[in-house]
Amino acid sequence: MSKIQMKTPLVEMDGDEMTRIVWQQIKDIVITPFVDLKTEYFDLGLVNRDATNDQVTIDSANRTKELGVAVKCATITPNAQRVEEYNLKQMWKSPNGTIRAMLDGTVFRAPILVNGIKPFVSCWKKPITIARHAYGDVYKNSELRVDGAAKAELVVTYPDGRVDRKVIQEFDGAGVIQGMHNTDKSIEAFARACFTYALDIKQDLWFATKDTISKTYDHRFKDIFAEIYEAEFKSKFEAAGIEYFYTLIDDVVARIMRSEGGILWACKNYDGDVMSDMLASACGSLAMMTSVLVSPSGVYEYEAAHGTVTRHYYKYLKGESTSTNPMATLFAWTGALRKRGQMDELPDLVDFADRLEKASIDTIESGTITGDLKNLINVPEKNVVNTEDFLKAIAAKL
Ligand code: NAP
Ligand code: MG
Repeated sequence: MSKIQMKTPLVEMDGDEMTRIVWQQIKDIVITPFVDLKTEYFDLGLVNRDATNDQVTIDSANRTKELGVAVKCATITPNAQRVEEYNLKQMWKSPNGTIRAMLDGTVFRAPILVNGIKPFVSCWKKPITIARHAYGDVYKNSELRVDGAAKAELVVTYPDGRVDRKVIQEFDGAGVIQGMHNTDKSIEAFARACFTYALDIKQDLWFATKDTISKTYDHRFKDIFAEIYEAEFKSKFEAAGIEYFYTLIDDVVARIMRSEGGILWACKNYDGDVMSDMLASACGSLAMMTSVLVSPSGVYEYEAAHGTVTRHYYKYLKGESTSTNPMATLFAWTGALRKRGQMDELPDLVDFADRLEKASIDTIESGTITGDLKNLINVPEKNVVNTEDFLKAIAAKL
């Protein structure tokens, strides 16, 4: 059998721990036997990020801007414990944060739905897609510890010397402060990405902030969405028979729990981080959640929504067999290959991505599953296997 050919390479961003092992298994078992895989490889594993002073992360994001499509493995975001564990030069920033800031995109996350796994929220009949603003707020903040009585202020200095000041707090003892920002440009790009994606998938768009409390910051998000909707999208939404709906973040959470699904839910950066884990768990498993970062210039970065599955990795290091679910990472690969196929006009590559996704869903529906799905799925016979055997079962179907 001749292998499917590619034109432009994918930017391949390797990662850490269990997902790094699964990454290689996916390539070996279900991709390279069928596709003459072309990638430009960047090792974003923590060891290499430390060795390159995190330059490798920046290089990979720059190359993604040039080539257009990347696929990323989960990576460790170092904390104090990791600094010790890996003997790091410093507590490097989250690679996802760095890449998102450089591509200034919106992250769309949707669960992989299979027959036999019912969402815990029984009224959800259709998938809910979360659009996470991927720039700014607490992910690009400046924080300070205040170590005693002090006056903390926000200070903005314009090039012409004009200064804006506002008191944050008059401290009478120790505490903490943080400053965060967003830009009109990024919020506008976020809004357009959400309206465009809603039209693409023909689903209502819901957006929420806490503008009653954050009367300047969050209110700016609300206003920009409203202005862009009125000026550019209202008539298109009406023609498509879909709606744009704005409310408060706590109200939207309550409404989502009572909805049927089939909604694109636009979230500010932090809300999207938290709510996508909630959504993934409610739909089964974190391992069944796909994620794609779309930049305003049309650059795509595909990844899994979960982390490096550390607990499984420590078992793996002890020589124990692990049953880590590779679905989300596999769908990152199929998403990237499909997009590459569409951009390069390679119908065989697009077709391969479709078939690989179908084979993996069929494998689960026929009862061959990883451990995380054991108590979630309702099928006549369950066959819990390790990651390698799960991938081999997919390859056999393929
Ligand atoms: P995690 O890696 O997502 O894993 C949390 C738990 O969820 C696992 O222990 C496991 O539960 C379950 N799980 C997640 N993915 C699974 C899969 N594919 N198959 C089966 N079970 C799965 O989150 P974490 O343990 O909080 O974080 C670990 C590391 O990942 C951290 O260093 C963090 O910085 C990093 N992280 C990276 C990203 C990213 O790169 N996108 C995102 C989040 C976190 P059981 O143990 O009960 O089996
Ligand atoms: Mg999260």
